[in-house]
Amino acid sequence: MSRIAIIGAGPIGLEAALLARQLGHEVQVFEKGRVAENILDWGHVRLFSPFGMNSSEWGRASLANWLGPDALPCDNVLLTGREFADEYLIPLSQLPELAGRIHEQSQVRSISRRHFRKSDGIGAPDRGAEPFQLLIERRTFSHSVISDPFADGTHNIDDESTQAVRVRHELETHHLDEQVVLADVVLDCSGTYPHHNWFGNGGMPCQGERDGLTEAHYRLPVIRADEFGNLITLVVGSGFSAATSVVALAELARQAPRTKVLWLANSPPNPIESSGPIARVPNDPLIERDLLATKANELAAIGHFTRASSLEARNHPVVWFSDVSIKSLRPIQSCRDVDGFEIELDWSRAAGQGSNRPSGLTVDRIIATVGYRPDRSIYEELHVHECYATQGPIKLAAKLLGETSFDCLAQTSHGCDVLKNPEPNFFILGSKSYGRNSNFLLRVGIEQVREVLTSMNR
Ligand SMILES: Cc1cc2nc3c(=O)[nH]c(=O)nc-3n(C[C@H](O)[C@H](O)[C@H](O)COP(=O)(O)OP(=O)(O)OC[C@H]3O[C@@H](n4cnc5c(N)ncnc54)[C@H](O)[C@@H]3O)c2cc1C
Repeated sequence: MSRIAIIGAGPIGLEAALLARQLGHEVQVFEKGRVAENILDWGHVRLFSPFGMNSSEWGRASLANWLGPDALPCDNVLLTGREFADEYLIPLSQLPELAGRIHEQSQVRSISRRHFRKSDGIGAPDRGAEPFQLLIERRTFSHSVISDPFADGTHNIDDESTQAVRVRHELETHHLDEQVVLADVVLDCSGTYPHHNWFGNGGMPCQGERDGLTEAHYRLPVIRADEFGNLITLVVGSGFSAATSVVALAELARQAPRTKVLWLANSPPNPIESSGPIARVPNDPLIERDLLATKANELAAIGHFTRASSLEARNHPVVWFSDVSIKSLRPIQSCRDVDGFEIELDWSRAAGQGSNRPSGLTVDRIIATVGYRPDRSIYEELHVHECYATQGPIKLAAKLLGETSFDCLAQTSHGCDVLKNPEPNFFILGSKSYGRNSNFLLRVGIEQVREVLTSMNR
């Protein structure tokens, strides 16, 4: 039996926790927010892979056993993120096997090897003989009444104006407390989701981006009329998340006809396959994914900026700018609020002179769906050999870079050996194992969990 510490109660951390318990290990899961925190953040989005692909057989069997066979969604159903959390992940976390083992509001800040600094015991067996130490930061909240400003009797409590302002002073206090936990094995399942990329040229922040935008700009918002209706939204990115936002904004434009989307997205390398910014998968078996790509590409193609003078393009809610990047961004401030953004464009990548190329744009909203990257700071005291291109663990990254298909459904797990790091018994699993490569599928992560945990029991 090993003491296994799991970082993150997302789908992969939860699947790992359950299987590790079933294999007889001692398990603790540390989650910086709530169970399924990241999935819930994009809970309004429908997954394109069916439930049967997104869940393990040991998870489904345990829940069916505990709650009855009808408690689970059908294998072929496409759930939203919220439904996936409510109908599978949260019940999974409540299984008796995991009782008392999932610690929410507990963020892993750092991991090290006891008595071994980064430069000590390189490749030596005695490094692996010492346990890991995890520095956990727990956050607790308390809600307390701290004072009653009128309790000293100096105010006339019958006075109407005094009564009107009589408030109890309440304080929501955050308590931070740190703790060190020991473990024989660490599974880092902390995902990549909130650690966004930047949208400036070459992937660095453009001028003004770091100060001008907040974390919320890089997430997938719910497209509500009161937030986006009859406004101009800049969408940046050429993946399925960008496509989701563009299609939802175009739908909104039916009710709120002055809604406009300015979509900055480069064409994929093979535009004939896609004729739009989203790379379609030939004969895509995931029908919803293909429908989304087709719809987004149609919207983009009609509204390509070179067609700006055509009547069809002028009445269309989407304008697609290809081969352009953002040079700078400046929030337009009114009083204390941000009322929009001035965007300066960089056309240096586009061939020739071209017509209808604006040098700048003024927009009300920004949705920056430019991908995510792993947070490597938590394991910087450990020996992890990373790929310089993807920042994923090198052996897996090398396998993935060698794959020729860009269909993420064609991905398979590559066995336990490629998941091993120079640091013994430290594994990066789930979406974080792919680093910046966005092809990760839950099905692959579940396979990784099975391979790593069953190899430990051999
Ligand atoms: C919009 C969107 C749609 C997607 N659709 C699909 C799909 O249809 N099919 C599919 O197979 N995949 C899909 N994916 C990709 C992928 O499956 C998901 O990103 C999935 O959430 C990855 O699971 P995970 O457990 O690896 O990471 P996450 O779900 O990101 O979970 C990581 C957890 O770790 C916690 N955490 C992070 N840092 C720390 C720390 N230091 N200490 C403690 N806890 C920490 C986080 O709060 C989070 O709860 C989609 C991704 C996105 C963004």
